[in-house]
This record gives sequence, structure tokens and C-alpha cells, in this order.
Amino acid sequence: MPRDSRYDILFEPVRIGPVTTRNRFYQVPHCNGMGRVYPDSMIAMRGVKAEGGWGIVSTEQVDFHPTGDVTPYTEARLWDAGDASVLGGMCNAVHEHGGLAAVQLVHNGQDTGNIYSREVPIGPVHRPVSWKNHPVQARAMDIEDIRAYRRWHRKAALRARSAGFDIVVVYAGHDGSLPAHFLARRHNQRTDEYGGSLENRLRLYRELLEETLEAVGDTMGVVARFAVDELLGSDGLEWGNEGHDAIEMMAELPHMWDVNISDWDNDSMTSRFAAEGYQEEYVSFVKKVSSKPVAIVGRYTSPDTMVSVIRRGIADLIGAARPSIADPFLPKKVEEGRLEDIRECIGCNICAAWNNISAPSRCTQNPTFGEEWRKGWHPERIRPRESQAHILVVGAGPAGLEAAHALGKRGYEVTLADARSEPGGRVARESALPNLRAWNRVCDYRLGQFALMTNVKLYLESALTKELVLDFGADHVVLATGSTWRRDGVGRALRQPIPGTEAERSFSPDDIMDGNRPPLGSVVVFDDDHYYMGSVMAELLAGEGYKVTLATPGNCVSSWSEYSLEQGHIERRLLKLGVEILPRHLVRAVNDGVIELFNTMTGDTVKRYGHLVPVTMRLPNDELYYALIATPSSLMSVGIKSVRRIGDCYGPATIAAAVYEGRRYAEEFDRECDSDGVPFKTVKHVLELGG
Ligand code: ADP
Ligand code: SF4
Repeated sequence: MPRDSRYDILFEPVRIGPVTTRNRFYQVPHCNGMGRVYPDSMIAMRGVKAEGGWGIVSTEQVDFHPTGDVTPYTEARLWDAGDASVLGGMCNAVHEHGGLAAVQLVHNGQDTGNIYSREVPIGPVHRPVSWKNHPVQARAMDIEDIRAYRRWHRKAALRARSAGFDIVVVYAGHDGSLPAHFLARRHNQRTDEYGGSLENRLRLYRELLEETLEAVGDTMGVVARFAVDELLGSDGLEWGNEGHDAIEMMAELPHMWDVNISDWDNDSMTSRFAAEGYQEEYVSFVKKVSSKPVAIVGRYTSPDTMVSVIRRGIADLIGAARPSIADPFLPKKVEEGRLEDIRECIGCNICAAWNNISAPSRCTQNPTFGEEWRKGWHPERIRPRESQAHILVVGAGPAGLEAAHALGKRGYEVTLADARSEPGGRVARESALPNLRAWNRVCDYRLGQFALMTNVKLYLESALTKELVLDFGADHVVLATGSTWRRDGVGRALRQPIPGTEAERSFSPDDIMDGNRPPLGSVVVFDDDHYYMGSVMAELLAGEGYKVTLATPGNCVSSWSEYSLEQGHIERRLLKLGVEILPRHLVRAVNDGVIELFNTMTGDTVKRYGHLVPVTMRLPNDELYYALIATPSSLMSVGIKSVRRIGDCYGPATIAAAVYEGRRYAEEFDRECDSDGVPFKTVKHVLELGG
């Protein structure tokens, strides 16, 4: 189908200095946990994005000198010519599909420990490094250090050109880069020409831009990636004062502006905390003060919103990290008039979380992300069926939905059955919780795809028993029957049920999602899960008028959500809702409406009255699986060739893991897999031994 003409504007070329991008879709630099450690995976992933139509495809942050070594994070590196040749592979992959390749040169200054390079960190003043309270200090750079730093940056830009990049992004963002540290009053108390006035604090960044333009600006686009607000009020940069003035002072200098808010937790807010387009209010002034093209980010997934951003004069390019991860083919789908095929990012930040753990990023919506090279998976293509099999998938949660979707795309006959009256399993249930609505896109996308396939049939209100499965007549059965939260407090910290939870009703997240509630009064949410569910239960119940205490054995509320960049946002929200937070606490017993807790450090006992909401762990719903495999002869007699478990029914985990398991089942179906071997390609490092 030809594209709707109202989207034509998204496909206009934009000039960025000496280069021109074919459209307004700009995959901004984003970390992915592959970088220098898994370069083949990173290169293939970037190539797929260019194939999907992104006009500009950028690297992640690329460190350009050992004094800015971000180990243990697996970013890309451009320390020398060898690194340039690795990144050259990415340029080729992007060019092959007509995209422009951009490199983001980054030095994290006082925000690194240099734990691999062992160089002394550097910054505007003497200061302990901010990275993980690491016990070393960044030393104050003198004028000679600043000269050296500028030289390293210039040389890196030249290396980037030799690698084949078309665009170099000069970075002062996220409170994590050396030029940003020089710019911030709270970091920079220098008394020389690099400290004091805004002009002085901006000097280093201006010099980097000027020197990059001078070195490579004749052939490469030079982009300024700049945070205009830090959401710190007058303690930080604000778009209404210094953020604005800084842009104005350099307005015409770069070939393009890529503006955002800082730090990363604010720039990449999850959908729980910010809606699509949340950065507009901060960055919309930039186009008023500069004639250069401006790029904006803000988790844009709707082409109509993108058009509106451009028509309203907010920006010229739609920047995207997460939307390009969830759907590398977003631009192509708009171009080909296939909007119903767009796989919208749900704003969960699983991608960021894996990067922050120093592992290859994963995506909840796009299970092929990071598997392009390693497993040969493609977000849009999957090999056709190799038999006439009819597959029964039991359970239409994320695992079952994705299995049915991918098997359907392969051409198999698929029946998907679910006991409930609505599809989606846990995503349908969880997206009804406060501020998680966007999560249901996991379900929406797949249901939309079923509508285009005649070989996938979905049956709701169909609770299947062993007998019904045997009667059904499928060749293969996949159980995606999910899991159930425990009610007794057993989990990571407690290995025995909390005394009293049997006699006195406690409410698991499933109970709450089913609409059950204790009488209005006090509740204690006991969170030994440490991700989002405990905090969401607290948020929901506090919003309904309960007096909520959240007790956790962790050091803080939702400690794991540090990785998904949400921890601070979660804690702030709960405190604003009046939730009492008790870190380092375990529940000892529940007795006659009294919940006895104790501090894990001091042993001191604390009592709270009311009901307990334990958020600790889930157990697989695998009864049907075990019932079926108990009698192989009955399976054989009805022609069932295999019975498999996937998703939470196999191992309760994230929604991303369930989607991946569903995809994996479909990808591996009709293929011999060596269960003793490694199920993907691995990188072999060749050691330089001997003379
Ligand atoms: P996952 O995350 O692994 O996809 P979910 O818990 O989200 O798991 O989804 C499991 C789904 O399976 C739920 O929608 C549930 O209603 C359904 N289900 C569980 N047991 C049966 C059954 N015996 N027959 C049909 N559907 C079932
Ligand atoms: Fe979006 Fe979540 Fe995928 Fe990241 S992991 S791209 S936030 S859907």
C-alpha cells in the first residue's frame, strides 16, 4: 500500500552540513550492552535498523581515550585504529541499506572509575568520582590537560572519519560527560577561563565543536547533542535560563542540534512516569534560536504525533532510541502504509536495564533485538514452515501470543486458547495497574497481526483440561499457562511460609489484580521481588485510600529498578503518596491483625496493623503440562508429537523473557536443536600468544 500523503513530510531529506539524510528518522545514539564486547551482534543490529529505514543510525556512546574508560559497561570504543576498523563494520552495514552512520564521541570524565585502563579520572575540579561511589578521585584538569583532551577528541573524530562514519556527535549530555561537567555550576568551581561565567563553562564544549568542524566538518555532519534541562531546578541547567542561553550562544555553530533533558533517568523515562513526547516543553525553544536542524526524542511511536512535532515547528528530525529497538522497521512501515504493523515500544526500559547490568540489551516488544547475528533472527522475517503441523498454544499471555504470532508468520496452523475472557495474560492484567497502560501494546501488536492471518485462531473463555487437549487433535501442544504469585511470603529472603499467612488472609498481587481487597485500612506490602510489582501494589492501594507501608529486605524500595532507571522516580512517587518505606525489613509473623516485622541489621521489631500483601515470587502453572506428559501413550494415541512449556509456566521471569520464549519456540520449531550445545553463535577471542 502506498503511504498516506500526510506522512510525506517524514520522508523529506534533511541537510546536516555536508551530508544529507534521506528522511527525518534519526536513531539517536543508544547503549545496547553489545558494543566492543559483542561487536558482531552490535553491527548486525545496527544494519537491521538501516534496513528498516532509519535515515541516520548512530552508535552507542563511544569512548575515545583510556582516561574515559567505562568498564564494566560494554560500550563501543575508539581508542585506536583497531577500534576504528571494528566500527567500520557498522558503517558498512548501515551504508549497505542507504543510511548515514553516526558516531557519538564520549568521555565520561569524573563519572568513570577507569577500572580497566587504570588511568586517573579527570574532571573540572578535584572530586571523588560519581560512578557508584567508587573510592577514587577525579583530578582537576590543568590547561595542559584540557589541551590534551581536545587533541584526543579531534584525533578521535579523524579516526571516525577513517572508519567510514558520516556524522560525528559531540556530546554534552546526561550529566555523564566531561563537557557537561565543565558546564554545570555544581561540578565546576574553576577560577580560570574554563570556570565562572556561562561563557567560560561552555568554552570547552565550544572548542570541541569548533575543532571537530575544522577537522572533519568538510565531509562529516557535526551534531551537538546537548541537554538543556536537568530537572534539578535552579541547582542545575534549566531550559528557561542557562540551558536556553547556552544554545543561543552556540546557535549556528553545529550542523545540527540533538537536544534532550538530563540525566539519563530523566531522558529515558519509562511510560510509568512520562508520556510520549514528554520532552517537548523543555526543548521546543531551540528551533526559535537556531536555524540549524533540530532533533528531539521522547519515545515517539505514533507517526501522527511525529508529523505534528514537525508541523508545529518543535523539531526537524524525530530522534528515537527505544522506538527503534522495539521496531527497527518503523520508518519502512510508515513509508509502506503499514501502520498496523508498527510494534510500539511499551516504555519499560528492559533494554536500558540489561545494558546497565553490562549485558546485551533485550527488548520486551522485539525478541529479535540482539539476536540478529547470534541467532540469525530478523524482526520482520522468519523462515517458512517445514511441515503441515497444527499447533495448539494454551495461554494467550506474552509467551503464547508471541509463539502463535511467529508460528503463524511461518505459515503453520495455530490455535491459541485462553481461559480468560480477554487475551494478554499478565500484560492485560498488569497494564490495568496504575500508569502501566502502555504495556498492553505487547498484546495489541500481536492481536493486530492475527487479524491479518487466516491460519491463527484465538479462542477465549476456553479453559483447557487434559481431556480437552487430547480431544482437540493438534500435532503439537505448547503450554504458556503462566504463573501465580505466592501468598505466603516465601521468596528470596524467606524460605518458609510466614507464620499466620494461612490462617489470616493475605493478598497476593494476583488477588489484588482480580479485584480482591482487604477492608479499607492499613496494609503492609512486603516486597522481596525488588522490581516494579511491589511498588505498583503500594501505589495502587495508596491511591485507593489505604495506609500503606512498604517493607523490603532490600536497601531501598524496588532496588532492581535502578537498572531500568526508575528507582528514584518510584521512591519519589511513593513518598509523595504518603507510603511509609521500611528498607532492610523482613516479616516475622502475622497474628491477629498484627504484622510483626524486624530490621535485618539490628533485629529490632516493628509492628504494623492490617493486612499483608506479599510480593515475593511466583510458581509456574504447570499442572496441565505434568498431567499431559504423565501418560505418553494417550498423547501418542491421539497423534500429539510434542508437549512443551514456555514463558512463565516454564520459568517465571520478565515479560520480555516470556516473549522471547514464545519466539524461540517458533524459531526452533521443526528444527533439530542440540540441547547439549550452545544455542547461538559465540565470539571467539584469538589470543596473541608467543613471539
Ligand atoms: P506468560 O507470561 O508466560 O505468557 P501469562 O501468565 O501472562 O504467562 O499468561 C498465561 C495465560 O494462560 C493466562 O491468560 C491464563 O488465563 C492462561 N491459562 C492458564 N491455564 C490455562 C488453561 N488450562 N487453559 C487455557 N488457558 C490457560
Ligand atoms: Fe521499549 Fe521496553 Fe523494548 Fe526498551 S525494552 S525498546 S522500553 S519495549
